[in-house]
Amino acid sequence: MPQPYSENSVENNKKRKDRIQSVNTRGFIEIDSSLQRTTVWYFRKNVDNITNYRTFLHSIESELIEKLRQCVGVHPIKYDLKLEVTYVIPAEVDNTTENHAFNSPARQLFVYSNVVGLVDCDLTLLLTKAKTFADEDRRFTFISYIGGLTLGVHQYNPPIERWSYLTLPKNIINRRAVINPQNIDQLCFQWAILAKHVSKYRCRVNTNYFNEAHRYDFSVLSVPTTISEITLFERANPGTSVNVYGLKYNGKISTQYMVYPLRVADEEMPNHFDLLLITGSENKYHYTYITNFSRLVSSQINKGHRRLVFCKKCFKTFDFQPRKYKLYGDKALAQHRLVGNCVFNPNTALMPFSRHS
Ligand SMILES: [Zn+2]
Repeated sequence: MPQPYSENSVENNKKRKDRIQSVNTRGFIEIDSSLQRTTVWYFRKNVDNITNYRTFLHSIESELIEKLRQCVGVHPIKYDLKLEVTYVIPAEVDNTTENHAFNSPARQLFVYSNVVGLVDCDLTLLLTKAKTFADEDRRFTFISYIGGLTLGVHQYNPPIERWSYLTLPKNIINRRAVINPQNIDQLCFQWAILAKHVSKYRCRVNTNYFNEAHRYDFSVLSVPTTISEITLFERANPGTSVNVYGLKYNGKISTQYMVYPLRVADEEMPNHFDLLLITGSENKYHYTYITNFSRLVSSQINKGHRRLVFCKKCFKTFDFQPRKYKLYGDKALAQHRLVGNCVFNPNTALMPFSRHS
């Protein structure tokens, strides 16, 4: 029969003693891990022997935030906290001690989570629990010793329905013009943008992608990101512009998908991105990065394999057939843009232009 868990069992007392003795420095020190490191435990010892709960928790708050940010930068996680306290109970002959631990509930953490806010909630909860406990049982208020704070970090794979990842239709994959980074979060807009800077192993979101995240400010965007929010991204990151294209199934020819414009920037900036937005069931949508725009669309607008240029906004094409009284090729395209007779008609019915629409 397994014994019910007790902070004061011989085994747990020994573990706790070892844990407290093994750490002698500030910072969250790794003390244990599970097989394959899917769970890692860190301990922040109360090295300064602070006796006040609030002061102790406040003194380690920024270290904790830093540690969590570091962990979640590698993989989504669940974490929990355990504040370890020993109470000395005065007695006439021999003082006795009792160990207690106050836990915070496990929380999911993603790169985009508000770490500061969550940590603040957790520490407030631990403080309340410790105070309530001491108030309820007066004998514990004599002397208490704060051992430290244990942080458990568990690798977390969110349920698939929360991922934004969708696969591209085969017909589009075959055009070899789109990068579709496989993610297990809802940050596909961010990954699609960063795909431009990733040179190796681009199909999976990994440290390759995390290492490039510093390039842009994504903090203004909500997750998942709607098309209407892209303006905020452009504003927060001067010199960038983003076009978004959608995919329409062309029923006449099986397996044939057509690319069409959804959002086109007023002006292409030096750092320009063309994204392809794919949609799935239940309003799911997913951004991918177009590496070669003309390769992606030329097969659908250029049946005769003539040399063509086309407007990225309305998809009107211009060939290079010389004409006596009319411009052709690149000049015709430039004129088309200047004159302003370009008609942009996004198919709004399909699109997540706003989160609430
Ligand atoms: Zn046009």
